[in-house]
Amino acid sequence: MSASVCLTGIRREELLDILNGWGEKPFRTKQIWSWVHVKLVASIDEMTDLSKEFRERLKSSFHFCRPRIRLRRQSRDQTIKWLLELSDQACVEMVFIPEVDRGTLCVSSQVGCSLSCPFCHTGTRRLERNLKVEEIVDQVIVARAELQSMGLRVTNVVLMGMGEPLYNYESVVKAVRIMLDANGLAIGTRKITLSTAGVVPKLVAVGRDLGVNLAVSLHAVRDDVRDRLVPLNKKFNLYALKQAVMAYPLKGGRRVTWEYVMLDGINDTDDDARGLVHYLKGIPSKVNLIPFNPWPGTSFVPSPMERILRFQEMVGGSGLVTVIRDRRGEDIEAACGQLVGSQGVHP
Ligand code: SAH
Repeated sequence: MSASVCLTGIRREELLDILNGWGEKPFRTKQIWSWVHVKLVASIDEMTDLSKEFRERLKSSFHFCRPRIRLRRQSRDQTIKWLLELSDQACVEMVFIPEVDRGTLCVSSQVGCSLSCPFCHTGTRRLERNLKVEEIVDQVIVARAELQSMGLRVTNVVLMGMGEPLYNYESVVKAVRIMLDANGLAIGTRKITLSTAGVVPKLVAVGRDLGVNLAVSLHAVRDDVRDRLVPLNKKFNLYALKQAVMAYPLKGGRRVTWEYVMLDGINDTDDDARGLVHYLKGIPSKVNLIPFNPWPGTSFVPSPMERILRFQEMVGGSGLVTVIRDRRGEDIEAACGQLVGSQGVHP
């Protein structure tokens, strides 16, 4: 007999196939799928419209593997961060950012990260392992279940938490397909954004496979500067990155989001702003300027706000949509680049 399968890590089609093999009618799949992804139950026993006998049969082949909430902190600005403990005790963080018209969940794809970007706190941790499909999907399920009682809802998902999603390609693609399922979590392709530091060989593939929004962590427009800020640039330089992004199949009217962290004296000059405008020529783009979020031990310094405003004016003045990102969740270390997945940093 094959090993037990985690219910949140399979696609509806797979469940259907297995139950077909048992001689069950397709509506059984519908029922179970709805318990897991809509009613958000955490055990087979809660599926009360299934006979006791059938539930026992299910238990012999399936299980839940919902991560345990080790810590939950809420920011003054209502942002919520959870530290989740996985079945092997590894921990990851996820962050919920409520806004007037939506609720965005920032999801992790790896425990730690292999990219070592020196301004990113996650980057100070080595890669421990990739997350499994169910560990990615469960972040959305846990957040939805937790937020329900507060009248809040996850409407958008950004793969911008810990890790580089394109270095965990197969699991990320499958997890996103599960999130897209219209009878389940039902988060549309327009509501999902994958953020990458620029894993060029996988960039076009992910556009073809998923059709979700793309965000790219650019941070510099000169190779010598980017080599330092995003060491992956030594493998896939700015030229290669631009070629790949130009080939990204953008669905009608959508733009690529470029993330640009503002670091004092490093990438925030007028020349950098002009270079950025030049680099983005020919690509439907939106620029997110991210004020650097400092963390204990970092030697990087945030650009002064006047500098950021001047940079925005120059880039925005060229016709590019340019937004200065809020520092949401700063007081609970939930802002960009502050996720480390350990309790150690919290007093
Ligand atoms: N590996 C992916 C996703 C994770 S990071 C990527 O590189 O895109 C999400 C965003 O936060 C990235 O743009 C990252 O460069 C940025 N970031 C990391 N540390 C930061 C910090 N301390 N302050 C502001 N932004 C940061």
